[in-house]
Parts: sequence; structure tokens; C-alpha cells
Amino acid sequence: MEIEIHNIGDNIGPEKIMLLRQPRVGLEAVVVVDNVACGPAIGGVRMAPDLTIDEIYRLSRAMTLKSAAAGLPHGGAKSGIINDPACSFEQKEILMRTFARMIRELTEYIPGPDMGTNEECMAWVKDETGRAIGLPRVLGGIPLDEIGATGFGVAITAEVAAPEAGISLKGSQLAVQGFGAVGRHAANFLVKQGAILVAVSDSRGAIQNHNGLDIDALIKHKKEGSPVHTFPGGQAIDREELVGIKCDIWIPAARPDALTENNIDQLKAKLVIHGANIPATETAEKLMHKKGILNIPDFIANAGGVICAAVEFRGGSESQVMKTIEEKIRINTLETLERSKRENLLPREAAVRMAYSRIKKAMTYRGT
Ligand code: NAD
Repeated sequence: MEIEIHNIGDNIGPEKIMLLRQPRVGLEAVVVVDNVACGPAIGGVRMAPDLTIDEIYRLSRAMTLKSAAAGLPHGGAKSGIINDPACSFEQKEILMRTFARMIRELTEYIPGPDMGTNEECMAWVKDETGRAIGLPRVLGGIPLDEIGATGFGVAITAEVAAPEAGISLKGSQLAVQGFGAVGRHAANFLVKQGAILVAVSDSRGAIQNHNGLDIDALIKHKKEGSPVHTFPGGQAIDREELVGIKCDIWIPAARPDALTENNIDQLKAKLVIHGANIPATETAEKLMHKKGILNIPDFIANAGGVICAAVEFRGGSESQVMKTIEEKIRINTLETLERSKRENLLPREAAVRMAYSRIKKAMTYRGT
């Protein structure tokens, strides 16, 4: 790993950058604790062969902002183990346990699962350190993708923002890009609230039906392993056509940079809720704002996952998770919209300012 840290950081963090090496087991890892003013930092442990300190730092900052924007008593961190995640089960356990032993004293960092790690890895980390989130159910874990924590938060965001975009949720037309943990649950919660799901895509194609897709049947179809475009209750369309679908609400829930300056002029929706992380480029977001399309940024809309983690850390139940997500995301979406109007800012800028002001306020309570 290249050590290039002189350009990293600003007046809120990072607080610690730790490089870990244990050549006997082939462990090389980095931990960045960005900011802990609001409380111990939550952050995933990523396993990939090509991680950089800069990438881990940027991800840790995203966690700082997401936790603060969500109003959680937590800061942000991230760590990375440089290794192929498809290594053997035995090697993964050795690496995870060695990593965990080396961060045992770093009590201001609460590790969670991320790309290349899972609940089993977190069970090993908990066993070694006494702390981790995203645990198996038998250890008090709450399976966030199973209960649809993030998708539920995305749906709450849509409900709160819809009137601001001049949309009545009941009877509104909804298009969702990506039908995985986030997209599937967001669509399901919104349809149950009266929205009409007119189009959905996955990595292999897309399907549309202007009279509404049968959400329960579509979920069953997808669970059986079939791609959405083979669903019999609609008409298959090209995956990229989803952007131009006639609808009121468009939810990107698949990958980064789904909306760019090259496709944004096709978008017909009035409201875009960012279910995926950074699903629109900065330019695309500005262009949408100019066109009067309301965008609610990722770290407000998809904070359900981190809120779920915070509740799990305190030993809370699944019903407490949903209640907390609803409460926090409702307040934060409203505050973002109000600040955006009051200060004439993009909703993303308003949300970033809201998060920074909470972090800076929390920092005034800390000793130096
Ligand atoms: P997932 O793997 O469960 O689902 C992703 C879905 O997107 C799949 O249906 C896949 O087929 C589809 N997809 C992939 N490429 C596509 C493309 N080019 N066009 C259309 N569909 C495509 O993932 P997820 O957990 O639902 O996460 C989705 C996004 O949300 C990711 O960016 C993730 O980082 C972010 N996110 C997830 C959570 C969470 O709790 N799961 C929390 C915050 C952010």
C-alpha cells in the first residue's frame, strides 16, 4: 500500500490512521477513524486486493457525515484488509481474527460488514474484541437487508419529499433502478403506500407496465432467480431506457453514477431519491436542480442501514429499528428541505452543512 497521507484530511478529521501488518499470516490493513465527536465511530471492514489509504479515508468521511446527518451518537470510520475476498474460509478467519486482535484497544471504532466481509466475519471480530455490528441473528444481529431497513428509509424520504415536488404519493408513478436489497424493499413499501410501480430494472434488463407491476409477484419472480425483464406481468425494455420512463418518482438503487450529464435530459421524473451511494454525478445533480427536479441525497435517504447498525449496537429489536429509521429520516429530510430553501442550496449541500454543523457543535464539547 502506498503511503501518501499528506493530502488527506481537514479540520474535522481524520483523527487516526492506523496501518497494520502481520507478515506471519499475510495481514496488511488500514484503519481510518475520521471523527468521533458525536460518539464511537461506526464503519465497515472492506476486503479487497487493491485498497488505498485515500479510498478508505474518503469512505470514513462519508460515514462521519452519514452518522451525523442521521442524528446518531456515532462518528465515522472505515477499514480495509488488503486481500482477495474469495480466499479460503480458513484464511479469511485467520485474517479477520488477527485484524480484530490488532484493533482490540481501538475502542472508539465499531467494525461492521462491508464489501468482501459478512456477518460471519463480524462474529469473529466480536469474539476477539467484544464489539461489532452486522452480526448473525443468534448474536443479536439484525439482518438489515432481510427486513429492508435501507429501502424503508428510502420510502420514508420519498413520502416526506413528495409534497415538496408537487406529488401526491397515492397514485404517483414510480420507477426503480436495481431490484436488490434497497430497490426491492423501497418499491414494496411505496406500493403499499399507494404508489404505482411502472418500471424496474436489474443488471440484466428492465420491465415496464404503465398500469402498475404486481410487486408481490415480481418479488417472487426475482427470488426464484429470474431477471426482472422476463416477468410476465409487463413489457421488457432495454435496461438503459429506464432513465426516460414517464414517472413522478425515480429511485436509483443500483450503482454509482447512474445519472450523468449524458442521460439526464431523458429524465422525466419530478423527484429523485438516492437509494444507492452517489448515483448521480455532481454535474447531473446541478442540472436536475436547474430543471426543477428535486433530489434527496444518498446520505439522507439511504441512512437506514447505519441507523439499523446503531440500534443493533445498543441491543435493540427489529421493531425499534423501523421506528427509529422512520423518526430520524423524517426529521432529517424535512430539515434538509427547509435548509435548502432557506439558504438557497442544493439539497445535498444543505445536508452536508447540516451534518458539519452537528459535528462542529459536538467537537466543542471535547477536550483537546
Ligand atoms: P444488491 O446487490 O442487493 O442489489 C443491487 C441491484 O442492482 C441488483 O438487482 C442488480 O441486478 C442491480 N444492478 C446492478 N447493476 C445495474 C445496472 N447497471 N442497472 C440496473 N440495475 C443494476 O445491492 P443493495 O444492497 O440493494 O445496494 C444497492 C446500492 O445501495 C449500492 O450502491 C449500495 O452501496 C447502496 N447502499 C446499500 C445499503 C444497504 O443497506 N443494502 C445501504 C446504503 C447504501
